[in-house]
Amino acid sequence: MDDVVVVGAGPAGNNAALELAKRGFGVRVIDSRVNIGDKLCTGIIGAECARRFPLDSELVYHEARSAKLVTPEKATLHFSVATPQAKIVDRVSYVASFAHRAEAAGATYHLGQRVLEISPESSGVSIRTDQNHYRARSVIIASGFGTPLTNNVGLGKVADYVTAVQAEAAIGDEDQVEIHLGQSVAPGFFSWIVPTRPGRALVGLLTRRKAQNHLDDFLRRLESEGRIRCVTKEPSSWGIPLRPLKHTLRDRILVVGDAAGQVKPTSGGGIYYSLLSSEIAADVLAGALSAGDLSSRYLSNYQRRWKELLGHELETGYSARRMYEYLSDSQISSLARQADRNGLHQELINSPELSFDWHSQMIDKVMRHPILGGMLGLVNPFLATLAHRPNRLLDLAGTASGSSDPLVSTRG
Ligand SMILES: Cc1cc2nc3c(=O)[nH]c(=O)nc-3n(C[C@H](O)[C@H](O)[C@H](O)COP(=O)(O)OP(=O)(O)OC[C@H]3O[C@@H](n4cnc5c(N)ncnc54)[C@H](O)[C@@H]3O)c2cc1C
Repeated sequence: MDDVVVVGAGPAGNNAALELAKRGFGVRVIDSRVNIGDKLCTGIIGAECARRFPLDSELVYHEARSAKLVTPEKATLHFSVATPQAKIVDRVSYVASFAHRAEAAGATYHLGQRVLEISPESSGVSIRTDQNHYRARSVIIASGFGTPLTNNVGLGKVADYVTAVQAEAAIGDEDQVEIHLGQSVAPGFFSWIVPTRPGRALVGLLTRRKAQNHLDDFLRRLESEGRIRCVTKEPSSWGIPLRPLKHTLRDRILVVGDAAGQVKPTSGGGIYYSLLSSEIAADVLAGALSAGDLSSRYLSNYQRRWKELLGHELETGYSARRMYEYLSDSQISSLARQADRNGLHQELINSPELSFDWHSQMIDKVMRHPILGGMLGLVNPFLATLAHRPNRLLDLAGTASGSSDPLVSTRG
């Protein structure tokens, strides 16, 4: 019997496997994919993530020092920072680098094998795949967005999500990240052009409905404007959770990463939070395995610790996200005009609250800003109040989840 079976070799699963294998536990990782890490993603990580979970410099395509924001009325705001806040990386190789280190530390990998069922038993956990059957003392579910396995073990599924769609296109020698806003581009969310290797960019967007149609329109427009030469990889889509699972553990089982909904609801970025959560999961599980106590009581330290670290960010980010979704194009444009006036946007960018990975302080700063916060308060006093009291919004969302309440019903 293995000490741990990890389901999923994304950032969350590989890092958990690495941490546990380094401590001498018997770890088996199972992934249905053959090419580790080859999941739809743009591959932007914050500078803090790169410091904490370093990568070889040849895996970095660009460092993002500046960005362009295009408003619904097609005005452009330029942002630049003295110190790069983020890196655009070769995501497949970055994720695989964790797996290589986990293997070197003793973890065993089974690729091209899908886990179909996880059955907790009194003395262990039984794991049935499409090819085999394993038993383990414990399981980490790190099988990403939309996994049926959390439901399978009685932990439910994430309550809200958004669809992401992305293609690759041939571009000139631009190296600036672009974000486009507006109902005609990506209703409620945003679209992006992210230059990667020379002459290529990832072009994608997030939105709740008809994401593929919106991307087709966006790509056509960029092509007609001569911004992209052609599409080099056809669009594909995947989901991004916007809310965490209520319970991320039970006896012998922990859930991490996208499967647990540990993603920034503002941007949809989840690599760093997956890595941080998997570190906590591995630490708690290592203690439980050593103590011979794999009860949910012992393992609840995992939920307590990841919530201490990320809970406030996820709550505040979700409140702000919902508020943004209810802004009209003219309201967004008007906010952008105000921010542009007197270089307000640059003032925000240069403020100590700016962080690629931690957004709650910047949200708070904007909400308290006499002009921007005041405008948001006028535009939607109810939601503006909730954004100051994120727990209140989540309480409401919790009670009304799945209901027809237009404020909080899940529309994914
Ligand atoms: C279009 C798009 C762009 C994104 N861009 C960024 C970005 O720039 N920066 C960022 O931080 N985040 C980004 N994200 C989010 C990021 O990709 C995820 O948050 C991150 O990959 C989560 O890691 P994970 O390990 O939890 O899950 P995943 O990376 O999804 O890994 C889960 C693994 O589990 C495997 N699996 C699933 N089911 C089974 C099964 N039954 N049996 C065996 N194996 C299974 C899958 O094959 C997969 O390898 C983006 C997401 C999308 C969709």
